[in-house]
Formats: sequence, structure tokens, C-alpha cells
Amino acid sequence: MSYNPPIGFVKKDIELADNIKKLPTLNSFSIEAEKQFPLLLTHEFAKRISWYNPEDPLLLQILPTKHELQKKPGFSTDPLSESIYNQAPGLIKKYHGRVILQLTGACPIHCRYCFRRHIKSNNIPSTLDDWSQAVEIIRNDISIKEVIYSGGDPLMLNSKKLLEISTMLSTIPHVKRLRIHTRTPVASPKRVNLELITGLKNLPLVVTMVIHMNHPAEMDDSVKTTLTAIVEAGIPLYNQSVLLKGVNDNVDTLTALSETLIEARVTPYYLHLLDPVSGAAHFFVDAKKGRELIDKIRLLLPGYAVPLLVMDTPGELSKTPL
Ligand SMILES: *Cc1c(COP(=O)(O)O)cnc(C)c1O
Ligand code: SF4
Repeated sequence: MSYNPPIGFVKKDIELADNIKKLPTLNSFSIEAEKQFPLLLTHEFAKRISWYNPEDPLLLQILPTKHELQKKPGFSTDPLSESIYNQAPGLIKKYHGRVILQLTGACPIHCRYCFRRHIKSNNIPSTLDDWSQAVEIIRNDISIKEVIYSGGDPLMLNSKKLLEISTMLSTIPHVKRLRIHTRTPVASPKRVNLELITGLKNLPLVVTMVIHMNHPAEMDDSVKTTLTAIVEAGIPLYNQSVLLKGVNDNVDTLTALSETLIEARVTPYYLHLLDPVSGAAHFFVDAKKGRELIDKIRLLLPGYAVPLLVMDTPGELSKTPL
């Protein structure tokens, strides 16, 4: 079965957004914040929210609120200075041995704390031909062993195009690995169908996937079924989370998140400190609190279930472990 995400998502989500705005308990909702970064979510993610609980940890991640309008020094629109690493449309070369390819600006949901929430994605190629400049740069740089698909969310691209680009990259001898950074298995698990998984499995590359889940309530049977299918295709799964005030900044939630992931055969990878993006300051948890939390969950979990606490520092060639 083929899948065409954008149309299905957009139509349904507009209806959903209208419903959300009518909910009486959501009095922190702000139209002004919604204008800056529109409300967007899937029905599948919406199903996991307790809509009458204003502190629901999933709701907090997607609801545009008046807190976003507070200006805070040090919080900016491009906190990682990503624009300076843009070598060709869609290509970010920042780290040794690996490049980031932004396949699309679209996402299945809009996470309010996203560090790319202000970045306009009109510099992202749309046809296979438009990708040639980025592909040529990769072809001519033998230090690049890994290509990381990013976005937006790369799985918003239709499978045919995604597999075409991947096949093109797999003809470059020094490119050995493909990594996909995506929130789609969580936000829209059915999109990651057998056609896509089989296509990825058959690529002559080592394929890994890094999903993005911040709270155990983001897992349900449908997500788990998708994750199992990915692992069974031989694609290792990792997770990255962002440490978010009011969402997951406590020992119980972080422990349960790791347990939930491990039971779905996903390895917790990074726990990121929030990037200082304007509009998200109310989610910020500092490094000291982050360390305290990690020290406590280390006493409760096997070592492989404890994510690495990191922050992103502009200009650094790797994440900074804390
Ligand atoms: C840090 C980062 C990467 C690379 O991650 P590693 O796992 O450290 O190789 C890729 N994409 C984005 C957006 C990042 O911030
Ligand atoms: S890029 Fe990822 S974190 Fe940002 S809005 Fe899209 S899905 Fe959410």
C-alpha cells in the first residue's frame, strides 16, 4: 500500500486544530503563538493525550501557549547557528565523517520546543535533480562515511523518493551508513509501512534509525508494532529525548521512558538539554538538574538504558557530554 502523507495530514489536522481551540480547559492556548509556529499533530498522537488535563505531558509538547511569547535573553531563532554550515541546498556539513541531509521541511507534528521552529525550509530541494549539488559534494569528499537524514522529518517524504535518493547515495563507495532521524514512528506509526521498511532493509548500506520520544505515554501498541517491524528488518533503533520542564524532568518519568523504550528494543541514546530557541524558554531545565536526574536513574536502570546527557554548543564538532 502506498502512502501519501502531506494531503492526509493537512486536511485532518486542520479539523483537529479547530477542535482543540474549542476545548475550555486549555486556557493557556495562544493564537499569537500559533501564528508563529502553527499547531500540527496527527490523530494517532492526539489519541494519546488526555485532553481535559492541562498538564498532560503530550499536550504540553504540541499546544501553542502564551508562555511562548515571553522574550528571554540568550534564546534565539537559530540557536545552533545551523545556517552557517549549509554547504548546498539541504546539506549541512558540521561533524567529522558524517553529513546531515535535510530531505524536507515538513513534520508530522510540531513540537513547541523544536530548535528549528523558526527556520524557513524554502532552501530544501524538492526534485531528485535539485539534490545533485548535495550528492556531488558527498561524492567528492571521501571523509564522509555516514549520511544522516534530517528535516523537518525525513519520513514525510514519500517512500519512492526517499528510496531513490538513498539508492543514489549508496552508489558512492565511501558512503557506508545511512541514519534516519525521525519522529514519524511515534507520531504516525502506520506511515512506516512494510514497503518502506523493506526498501530500507534492501539498501546496500548499514541503516540505523534514531526516533524521538520524550515521555512513555507516547508509546502505544501501534508504535510498538512499527518499532518491532523495524528492528526485525535488522535496523537498529535508538531514541533521543529532550529534557523538558513539566514533561519529563523527574526520575519516575525518565525511568519509565527508558523501560518503555528498552521493552520495544529501542536503545536510549541522547537526553538533550533544551537548545535555547526563542519561544521555548519555559521548557528549560539546566545542566545541574539534568545531572542530578541522570545520577538517580543510573541507580535504577541497567547501564544500557541510561541515555547520555548532552548539550549542543554552536561551533563544537560534537555534542558536549555533561
Ligand atoms: C548532533 C546532531 C547530529 C549528529 O549526532 P551524533 O549522533 O552525535 O552523530 C545529527 N543531526 C543533528 C540535528 C544534530 O544536532
Ligand atoms: S523537526 Fe522533530 S522536533 Fe522539530 S517539530 Fe519536527 S518532529 Fe518535532
